[in-house]
Amino acid sequence: MRTAITPLQLLEPRTLGTALKMLRTKGPLVPLAGCTDLYVSLNFGTLSGSRFLDLSQLGPLRRIRLAGDTLVIGAMATHTDLIRSRTVRQRLPMLVAAAREVGGPQIQNRGTLGGNIANASPAGDTLPALAVADAVIVLESVDGQRKVPFNQFYTGYRKSVMAPDELIVAVEVPPVEGAQWFRKVGTRAAQAISKIVMAAVRSGRPRIALGSVAATVVRLPKTETALAGGASIAEAQHVLMDEIHPIDDVRSTAEYRTRVSANLLGRFWQDTA
Ligand SMILES: Cc1cc2nc3c(=O)[nH]c(=O)nc-3n(C[C@H](O)[C@H](O)[C@H](O)COP(=O)(O)OP(=O)(O)OC[C@H]3O[C@@H](n4cnc5c(N)ncnc54)[C@H](O)[C@@H]3O)c2cc1C
Repeated sequence: MRTAITPLQLLEPRTLGTALKMLRTKGPLVPLAGCTDLYVSLNFGTLSGSRFLDLSQLGPLRRIRLAGDTLVIGAMATHTDLIRSRTVRQRLPMLVAAAREVGGPQIQNRGTLGGNIANASPAGDTLPALAVADAVIVLESVDGQRKVPFNQFYTGYRKSVMAPDELIVAVEVPPVEGAQWFRKVGTRAAQAISKIVMAAVRSGRPRIALGSVAATVVRLPKTETALAGGASIAEAQHVLMDEIHPIDDVRSTAEYRTRVSANLLGRFWQDTA
């Protein structure tokens, strides 16, 4: 471990206010949640920062609650918290299905929803569910909160609108009308990064999002419009195959990803008929 004799510095705020002040006045700092992504890059030597802000004592950021009819999930809620929450199970079963697919139980116990979002991998398993739920990311700095629609949060590969002195504090999810559906395709049942991950909602205007087919998670507006307009599923599958432009990489090929995405659309339609 590169952490045994260490030039690394760790700041340990006990309140969100202190954490935000530290980010503003003592930065640049790398926020540290469950560390399941950070420790990998630390050990690979690919982590640029050497000063860290430990978020683990910020208990209120782990809360999951309803505010009126909005589901509010604290950024420090772990994947296990999502799986165990009756409220999330009732309101957002596709997010629970996604959380169950993250790594294995050890990773689910430590990894957080905020970390999955901030890590900004196009293969992040919870991201398509948030995209079709029209979730809102709540960012906070010493200047206050701002809310960014999830579908405007990412600006490119591993890039987002989040500023260095901001933290993700919560995710707000409005009620989702219609049948929710989630499916991950990986090399094996656990501890596998997605080759393709899809979440979808079947309603008057279906909503569909895919991970691992572009630099960021993507919604499929053309495919959604085709289905909403009464296209057959075969027609919609052709629209989808024109709409996405995945790449070949170590985990899969563009052709495989395109065909599997179309197959998943068919499965979604069949399962929610
Ligand atoms: C063995 C293994 C298997 C995995 N399998 C999967 C998988 O199947 N699917 C999947 O999606 N992921 C997987 N991951 C990745 C990882 O577990 C998830 O992305 C997890 O949700 C990250 O959360 P964390 O709390 O550990 O983040 P951390 O590692 O603590 O942080 C990740 C990034 O987010 C930033 N960050 C964290 N919290 C905040 C916040 N509140 N505000 C601002 N920035 C923040 C950190 O600075 C860092 O850049 C796997 C990882 C490992 C090691």
